Amino acid sequence: MTATTPSENPLLDLSGLPRFDAIAPSDVQPAISQLLDDSRALIVRLTSPGAATTWNDFAAALTDGLEPLSRAWGIVGHLHAVNDVPEWREAYNHMLPEVSRFYAEFGQNLKLFAAYQAIAESAEYARLSPAQQRIIDNEIRDFRLAGAQLQDDQKPRFQAISEELSQLSAKFSENLLDATNAFSELVSDEAELAGLPEDTRQAAREAAEKDGQSGWKFTLHMPSYLPVMQYADSRRLRAQMYRAYATRASEFGPAELDNTPLIGHILRLRREEAQMLGYANFAEVSLVAKMAVSVPQVLDFLRDMAVKARPFAEQDIAELRAFARRELQLENMEAWDVGYVSEKLLQKRYAFSEQEVKQYFTEEKVLSGLFKVIETLFGVCLKPDSAPLWHQDVRFFRIETPAGELLGQFYLDLYARATKRGGAWMDEAITRRRRSPGSLASDAIQKPVAYLNCNFSRPIGSKNGLARPALFTHDEVITLFHETGHGLHHLLTRVDELAVAGIHGVEWDAVELPSQFMENYCWEWSVVQEMSSHVDTGQPLPRALFDKMLAARNFHSGMQTLRQIEFSLFDLLLHSDFDPAEEGSVLDLLGKVRREVAVLVPPAWHRFPNSFAHIFAGGYGAGYYSYKWAEVLSADCYGAFEEAGDPFDQNTGQRFLNTILAVGGSRPAIENFRAFRGRDPQVDALLRHSGMVTV
Ligand SMILES: [Zn+2]
Repeated sequence: MTATTPSENPLLDLSGLPRFDAIAPSDVQPAISQLLDDSRALIVRLTSPGAATTWNDFAAALTDGLEPLSRAWGIVGHLHAVNDVPEWREAYNHMLPEVSRFYAEFGQNLKLFAAYQAIAESAEYARLSPAQQRIIDNEIRDFRLAGAQLQDDQKPRFQAISEELSQLSAKFSENLLDATNAFSELVSDEAELAGLPEDTRQAAREAAEKDGQSGWKFTLHMPSYLPVMQYADSRRLRAQMYRAYATRASEFGPAELDNTPLIGHILRLRREEAQMLGYANFAEVSLVAKMAVSVPQVLDFLRDMAVKARPFAEQDIAELRAFARRELQLENMEAWDVGYVSEKLLQKRYAFSEQEVKQYFTEEKVLSGLFKVIETLFGVCLKPDSAPLWHQDVRFFRIETPAGELLGQFYLDLYARATKRGGAWMDEAITRRRRSPGSLASDAIQKPVAYLNCNFSRPIGSKNGLARPALFTHDEVITLFHETGHGLHHLLTRVDELAVAGIHGVEWDAVELPSQFMENYCWEWSVVQEMSSHVDTGQPLPRALFDKMLAARNFHSGMQTLRQIEFSLFDLLLHSDFDPAEEGSVLDLLGKVRREVAVLVPPAWHRFPNSFAHIFAGGYGAGYYSYKWAEVLSADCYGAFEEAGDPFDQNTGQRFLNTILAVGGSRPAIENFRAFRGRDPQVDALLRHSGMVTV
């Protein structure tokens, strides 16, 4: 095979920004195949007998040599996500198995493991920088968790467990999806639709028509299920849907879709795997690469939070019950009434329309507000910049120091498109690093570049001949700030080692800290005033409207907190203090957790574990607590600004930049936090922000 050169294949041109103006789907196969070959050849060379195991000759050389593949494949993955036309999907899917295989083999390569270990045991290790030492430690940890240290006779069993676990997880999701799809409720009496919004009725009507039936068809998918639980006046309809939803993939449905046996099986295998690796249980394994240090620490954290949230949750529920009796004539509020009653109370108390709020958040005003927050907080400058783009709607910006030194650049792709993956996300195009000595680039530092992607509505319509700007809901503004927080983590890093620069190497339960931190600014009155301007009148958002938004923000935060804690505690105990081989069932454990923390206990036939895909099919096994954990960290960091008396306090902003954003994964997250806050995390700020304080 003849080698392709960057001049023939723009995907291989990694000298600067991705060549979005030139890269075509037909470039993918030749470029990625070649990079895979190069990477494999490099690994063989670096691990051949007699090859040097020093930082420069092994670890740095490996990072250098593998970066082109990850950057080029990153571009392909990005285009697949934002421009999912058949040609790109085909190009991506064609190479995906080969790329996945390459990385899987990498994780199993014992020669690589041995080389990292050799560095760790050499005299050189003590002379490496802390960031370099951390990279070596992380690599060894990951190889170890992948079973690299097991005895040869144990390896086949370990491998078999891993494979079976991924099959069981896949089956768990499939069963859940099939069970979700298997149920539908056909309503023929229009009176039963009372209370439902027009678009929900319309969708239900179309769904029935599609089946060749008259009436309205409701399903267990969120866009159909949620409005029914929130708005349907028909208690019968709500009860029916609730029961179907709560018993998905359980013994109450078809046996072949029952997840109960899978749960037991997954728990047994995870425990066996953990014990082979020398841990008592799976929760301990899950915490190895996280910020939390031990199972008791997380249990204490959750239980402490539960105790503090409880009085507020009890108040929430008492208020709901009273409202249900008084205003809705529901003497006994049942589980299927809770969403409905909550919505009615929310409307009665804080009625405001999302549509009204939206008129105040125009794209340019929001962006300039966001940029000003970043500039003031971190002492940097944001400016428009130019680059080849994948779509005309995409914008490109640069971040500089006040002296004009480039720090990083980012793409902003705000609007939804039919060919774009849903949701919002930050991704890395280029990661900061010190270039290798032989590099031809003029700058010794490779500057980071990020993709910020959202799915907001594009500008619609015109007025007096002028196109109207795009308008964002407050939730969308929060989303933009959130993703920008991830972006800043990536862009403002000062780490020179790629493997721990930006978000690389940051513990999973700490990675949401900067993103959730940035959300706080969307609730600062001074910021909201600055970044709102009515599309027609130019007036900032009225204070009275903002007050309603603030009040609604913390509606039922006590109840919601306890619910999250219930899930987290159940998950953690299931993977630590529960022996699937012994007496007692998963449901008994859930019952125990509920007796301890819940204020709202669902009916006995509820089969929550059977649809808890986060922990049985996603990556959240013994990690569900991460949601609350990261919220505590971000709220506590924001608390430092509150204590300073100014959300834009310069010293605090610089400290946040220097101790958290700039350091990234080069140091353990707890050390970053302590360096910023001068102490360990405390839950008080989160409780205060959630309105859970007694005055
Ligand atoms: Zn996030």
